[in-house]
Amino acid sequence: MSQATEYVQHVYQIIEHRDPNQTEFLEAINDVFKTITPVLEQHPEYIEANILERLTEPERVIQFRVPWLDDAGHAQVNRGFRVQFNSAIGPYKGGLRLHPSVNLSIVKFLGFEQIFKNALTGLPIGGGKGGSDFDPKGKSDNEIMRFCQSFMTELSKYIGLDTDVPAGDIGVGGREIGFLYGQYKRLRGADRGVLTGKGLDYGGSLARTEATGYGLAYYTNEMLKANQLSFPGQRVAISGAGNVAIYAIQKVEELGGKVITCSDSNGYVIDENGIDFKIVKQIKEVERGRIKEYADRVASATYHEGSVWDAQVAYDIALPCATQNEISGDQAKNLIANGAKVVAEGANMPSSPEAIAAYQAADLLYGPAKAANAGGVAVSALEMSQNSMRLSWAFEEVDNRLKQIMQDIFAHSVAAADEYHVSGDYLSGANIAGFTKVADAMLAQGLV
Ligand code: GLU
Repeated sequence: MSQATEYVQHVYQIIEHRDPNQTEFLEAINDVFKTITPVLEQHPEYIEANILERLTEPERVIQFRVPWLDDAGHAQVNRGFRVQFNSAIGPYKGGLRLHPSVNLSIVKFLGFEQIFKNALTGLPIGGGKGGSDFDPKGKSDNEIMRFCQSFMTELSKYIGLDTDVPAGDIGVGGREIGFLYGQYKRLRGADRGVLTGKGLDYGGSLARTEATGYGLAYYTNEMLKANQLSFPGQRVAISGAGNVAIYAIQKVEELGGKVITCSDSNGYVIDENGIDFKIVKQIKEVERGRIKEYADRVASATYHEGSVWDAQVAYDIALPCATQNEISGDQAKNLIANGAKVVAEGANMPSSPEAIAAYQAADLLYGPAKAANAGGVAVSALEMSQNSMRLSWAFEEVDNRLKQIMQDIFAHSVAAADEYHVSGDYLSGANIAGFTKVADAMLAQGLV
């Protein structure tokens, strides 16, 4: 066994011993550790500086109580988190997730992924993530506002434009960012740079809402081009119906692909005429309804209960845009049987380790989340720049920068994979490119 392999195993055992029940966090670490041994073999200085153990231990974890009054006047309590994972290349940056599944393991896995994703954007942002086990489903606007105000009352002590800049994630969109920013302003003053994903009237960036979905389509397009393929004529299966899915559908269709599915946690729709993103947007964002209603409105669509990844329907490209581990090993095999040759991830860690193994066995083109969905946080960083300069760029300007960033992420991942002799492995390429940038910054800054 090489020194590098031994070192990787040794550090993994330490983390497993510290956090034996943090399954999602361990999964995210394993995903990176599996791919960086070739780098450690060539760079013993990373081992000497114990970079892996330092990189996997968050710089700071904040956990707090979030009390709020529901509409019936009852006191409710949720748990709030902010994990400030790594600031080697810039202030902590990453979203806030509101979902009943949120716990420390989930926030740490997301924060860990964010370190590499943010490094890949080429912009000066470190990695962080936060959220709460609060369930926004079925809550009134007033309940959402009271929760957000209480959450920010505590969080405001730990964030700032040069220290930590949160944004949205699952369950946190424009409405929530507005309430969070309003409360921050009451407590600390009007500092627009402290949150991204803001409304256009108070410091938000054009194209931020569209950025993750558009970025996913741009990244996938690069992957297709590099393999002499293109979107026209391709059938695309998308899961989810939130912010990422909606704008991925729009951009994939603009680029000539036909999106035939989207879904929510209850079920999925198939529309052989191509999903109309405007109807999905109306149902999910304006009416805050269920995706079932799409089939009630569109004659060519059918609704089915369960996971879209269990459906037997032909497609060439799969873009999971719902949530972590939404594709099991068996579902990956089903997706391959359906004809998929390409998978690119809009959600964070949507493919289970067994699913990734199945893609690799079948030689699929696989674009991992930390590269493929980096467009959202990239435009967040552009929002920070615009806020600092006190100006706002036109939609086209932001969109062009986003496109260039996604092209660069793909090119850098390819170059990193080539350098370490794993050509065509975009997962290894993304992990290696992100890892080396952060590790070098950490080395330069000494033992901190
Ligand atoms: N939540 C998004 C992500 O997973 C965006 C984070 C941000 O804009 O800071 O990358």
